[in-house]
Amino acid sequence: MRIDPLGNAQQGRPRRGFGGMRWWILILFAGYAAWQWFGNAKVDPYTGEKAHYGTTADEEVQLGAQAFQQVLGDANAQGALLPANAQVSQQIREIAQRLITHVPQVTADLAAQNGQPVPTEHQGFQWDVAVIQSDQANAFCLPGGKMAVYTGLIPVAKTQDAMAVVMGHEIAHALLRHGSQRMAQQKLVQMGQMAAGMAMGGMDPQQQQAIMAALGAGAQYGLVLPYGRNHETQADKVGLMLAAAACYNPHEAIPLWQRMSELGGGERPPEFASTHPDPANRIQTLQSLMPQAEQIYAKYCGKAPPSS
Ligand SMILES: [Zn+2]
Repeated sequence: MRIDPLGNAQQGRPRRGFGGMRWWILILFAGYAAWQWFGNAKVDPYTGEKAHYGTTADEEVQLGAQAFQQVLGDANAQGALLPANAQVSQQIREIAQRLITHVPQVTADLAAQNGQPVPTEHQGFQWDVAVIQSDQANAFCLPGGKMAVYTGLIPVAKTQDAMAVVMGHEIAHALLRHGSQRMAQQKLVQMGQMAAGMAMGGMDPQQQQAIMAALGAGAQYGLVLPYGRNHETQADKVGLMLAAAACYNPHEAIPLWQRMSELGGGERPPEFASTHPDPANRIQTLQSLMPQAEQIYAKYCGKAPPSS
């Protein structure tokens, strides 16, 4: 028998062949994921940045409405739902109304600025706002336009202008379809975990666990968090323009986010905590946006905004 110059290559071949087959699953997945991801990329007309959506706008409106019913039901059961005719409810509704009235104009302005066709998704939104009694300084706008403001936010906002900045930020998350974008990311992570599960068929459980943990952590820190911060910055910008167009003083945004960043960790809900931009960066970004916000204010309100 001839001695193989490559030593054990003959012996190794069957194992390598089998292992190679599993790697093919990963390579096929990566190709499919890349095709899905890049093939479905659209330019977000509000930001001019590439975005991926995991749902249709109609699905978002439905999902948002369902989630809102749940929130209202829970708040009602705890006696925490403020009646619609309470003074605070009326004030919050008025701010929401003023912001919503200016959605079409700000949408058209930003799309024009980014050289994109004007999006029409917001026309299908079912706007609503509820006020919930709570110590938390929180607010949200679900996909499709259903909003809630927690009474704990009122002492932090202090003024109607600052409240409009927060609510504008929340409305911007819905306009920018950030919920749908997050779902697109989650789908990709799930597909990756499935492909990894198939490819790891022959590994020992400890190795499998380590790889799944790495994938999960990678998804958490590599994908979701940076996107989260980017989404917050986008919502700050679009929200600020919305508040300015509705003639709320955009300069109030800076002391507002300063007050928000000074809140203790316990008082600060996730929406205003970890995924948010570093407070110093955020203030800097807001300052850089002020000239544009002042322009929008002048365009729709016929005068310059008050200095602070
Ligand atoms: Zn946010």
